[in-house]
Amino acid sequence: MKNILILITALFIGMLVSCSNRSNKNKIETAAATHADTVKFTANMVDNKRDPSCGMPASAGFEDTVHYKNKVIGFCSKECKDEFLKNPAKNITAADLKP
Ligand SMILES: [Zn+2]
Repeated sequence: MKNILILITALFIGMLVSCSNRSNKNKIETAAATHADTVKFTANMVDNKRDPSCGMPASAGFEDTVHYKNKVIGFCSKECKDEFLKNPAKNITAADLKP
């Protein structure tokens, strides 16, 4: 009887470990897929080299843009765009515009 209990406990722990491993892997794959899906603007489509709000390089791809003084400014997210629009004249210096 004692042996059966030990066996059941071992099986249960084994299940828990394999389940949590699997869900972690899925989470990572989902995050990567989500990022790839949101990239709409590549570095050559925008006039800034960096997201002025978070500093992310344009080479990583941008999700959103605004037009500011005849330049296309790219952002990694709507949140970064909103942050820029609070004070564009000040924030544009961080965008590292292409010459
Ligand atoms: Zn950003």
